[in-house]
Amino acid sequence: MRIVQKFGGTSVAGVERIRHVAELVKASWEQGIETAVVVSAMSGETNRLIALANEMMPQAVEREKDALIATGEQVTASLLAIELHRLGVPAYSYTGLQAGFITDSQHSRARILDVQCDHLSTHLDAHEVPIVTGFQGANAYGHITTLGRGGSDTSAVALAIALKADSCDIYTDVDGVYSTDPRIVHCAKKLDFISYEEMLEFASLGAKVLETRSVGLAMRHHMPIHLRSSFHNISGTLVKDEDNNMERAVITGVAYNRDEAKITIMGIPDCPGVAAGVLGPIAQASINVDVIVQNVSEERYNDITFTVPRSDYAQAMHIVTEVSQKLQARKVLGDETVAKVSIIGVGMRSHAGVANQMFATLAKAGINIQMITTSEIKITVVICEKQVDDAIKALHTSFDLDDVTV
Ligand code: ASP
Ligand code: MG
Repeated sequence: MRIVQKFGGTSVAGVERIRHVAELVKASWEQGIETAVVVSAMSGETNRLIALANEMMPQAVEREKDALIATGEQVTASLLAIELHRLGVPAYSYTGLQAGFITDSQHSRARILDVQCDHLSTHLDAHEVPIVTGFQGANAYGHITTLGRGGSDTSAVALAIALKADSCDIYTDVDGVYSTDPRIVHCAKKLDFISYEEMLEFASLGAKVLETRSVGLAMRHHMPIHLRSSFHNISGTLVKDEDNNMERAVITGVAYNRDEAKITIMGIPDCPGVAAGVLGPIAQASINVDVIVQNVSEERYNDITFTVPRSDYAQAMHIVTEVSQKLQARKVLGDETVAKVSIIGVGMRSHAGVANQMFATLAKAGINIQMITTSEIKITVVICEKQVDDAIKALHTSFDLDDVTV
């Protein structure tokens, strides 16, 4: 059995936490499990380093900034190795470069091209523990690169794949993935397992438990991720391929995102190129358009409504107002107080009536649906932000997700 254990920032936040992590690593090693480790920087450390660079110079040279912020992980990797030695476990810390993480040259958002880690395998064969700094690698010239914020999850999954590990255990400060945000629904259920696809949907809606990129990578290589807590000794959530033998509910969870704004252009002449004419300039400004609805009225005029991240609302409104004049649209409306609520579940594929149940539930709760969009395993509605909590509670109950043991 071979595993990669990854410990996030809060799990290695100080000497005491690192001592505890060392105990977890040791327990695995003592069981004869070939154990490789990936660590984050202590929580807050990457932010601190970025602030230092900005203090020196607001637009610091990217190469040097990466060299600087990669050091946070080096501190925790070495401290963990020192503590493991104290406990009698042979451990060796490696930077991303030393571990063989080869990336492209896009500083601060590099992509991993290859992980050349035969030497780490040799450690595992000799029953030793290699510890690798997450979040970083080096390009073909040996310049240090970083993978983007939260990137150590991706480092861990990439290492697990390269080492042909049986699983990648990601230790964090939550107990697992929940059927919805437990701060909103107290009886939310901890999920024993979730498919990669569902996890991707949850992550892209802003559930911050796992970095989205790491889930995509794990999915492509069928690497199971066990997301679990380093604070409580309980099993977490297994993220894996969909398993047909499992008895499952139609809906796995309810997700939401409040960071939304809505823009409507009314009465644009209905002819080819209209949608492109409106959305093209938005894309050029690198603004992500999400839910899009267009309808054609009898008089051959179009209305187009779409959502953008709230932080891009002002800029998007500005662009759309200009374009709408060119396109001779009747008027432009905007609303910054909308939010998205989605139900997610692979079970939807084989069940009819799920959308209908969602709409009926929202209607009963007095919630007006402004926009609807669906994918194979997700139904999303855009609603007024004030009603998000009510919507989530109603849907969670309606789809039998409430944990009755709580
Ligand atoms: N330390 C990096 C960050 O804070 C990487 C990580 O923790 O995943 O973004
Ligand atoms: Mg993290």
